[in-house]
Amino acid sequence: MPGAGHCPAMRDTDFEACHLTVRLGAIAENFRTYQRLAGPSAVAGVIKADAYGLGADFVAPALAAAGCDTFFVARLEEATALRRVLQDRATRIFLLDGAPPDAVPALIAHHITPVLNSLAEVAAWNAAAATARRSLDAAIHIDTGMNRLGLPGEELSILAGEWKTRLKNINLVLLMSHLASGDEPNSKMNDQQLSRFRTALAMLPPAPASLAASGGAFLGKPYWFDLVRPGIGLFGGAPQEGGKSMKTVAVLTGRVLQLRRIDSGQSVGYAATFRAKRPTMIATVAPGYAAGIPRTLSNKGVAFAAGKRVPFAGRVSMDMIGVDFSEVTAKVGDTVEFLGDHVTLEEVAALAGTNAYEILTGLRLPRHYTDAAS
Ligand SMILES: *Cc1c(COP(=O)(O)O)cnc(C)c1O
Repeated sequence: MPGAGHCPAMRDTDFEACHLTVRLGAIAENFRTYQRLAGPSAVAGVIKADAYGLGADFVAPALAAAGCDTFFVARLEEATALRRVLQDRATRIFLLDGAPPDAVPALIAHHITPVLNSLAEVAAWNAAAATARRSLDAAIHIDTGMNRLGLPGEELSILAGEWKTRLKNINLVLLMSHLASGDEPNSKMNDQQLSRFRTALAMLPPAPASLAASGGAFLGKPYWFDLVRPGIGLFGGAPQEGGKSMKTVAVLTGRVLQLRRIDSGQSVGYAATFRAKRPTMIATVAPGYAAGIPRTLSNKGVAFAAGKRVPFAGRVSMDMIGVDFSEVTAKVGDTVEFLGDHVTLEEVAALAGTNAYEILTGLRLPRHYTDAAS
């Protein structure tokens, strides 16, 4: 990601106003939580968008070391970059984007398994295999109600009638679908999609199957099939509303740049949106929205400093935020948590009016990696 530094270890001569610590040990623990939950079904790691903004080059080897041998990414360039990191051919890399004709040579060369999303892609891959004079592995994505990617009902019917020819040169390694509401245990859609998926599986030749992502895995055994595909749950996001919480992975800390006491009636920040109701201690703390702290947290966000939760005061600036430090004692250079064990990803996302995925993938600041789990 442009602008994001990678600092596996911080030297004590370095001063960084802010950084993101990625706990690789917590990712491994979250992976094992899914193994314990869904075993003996296998667990894949979904690491699209540069491992949800946390750095696939570091996250993928950590998952592989924890025993993960199946990965999903969205973009061809992510898949080829991942293959350079995970060279063991026994490690399966699925490409969710599928196999558009111009991607076919690269998919074959880098040993990447496409998730075929249409009959046109099935035909192109089958033809490529014929040209290569060998069978080629592929997954097929069946749309069961998300109406995003995957074979729609009409195409599924055609494939069901003609799979012997249409899949002649294809080694079908996975039949998959994706839940629209796997994070909502009470949604009727889950049952509907499960039953449509079962119907689809019965129409096609036998192959390993996968339906559940982070949330769906917590819907129970009927949803596990042969493989579950968590992403956000590995990275500390809550798989389901009000459900189990995972180990915290991303910890974003900044530092106090300046402290000042303001009088009642004085304002803080752009457009003077915060006005002190009493004498107030304002800490100006790095970072700001350029690092991915949503500007929608202006006057709404919370941080954690000196053992207490402290509220944002005023608008989030590009590289700094005003925080009301009236209730804590602090000095310039002190560390402030904006995301981590005390200010959770779910809380930040809710306050910002978005989800954990968008918060994580929007973070742009130097990253430190630790093997620690907490
Ligand atoms: C992103 C994605 C996942 C992982 O979803 P999470 O909600 O992050 O667990 C799984 N499968 C597909 C098809 C996806 O696009």
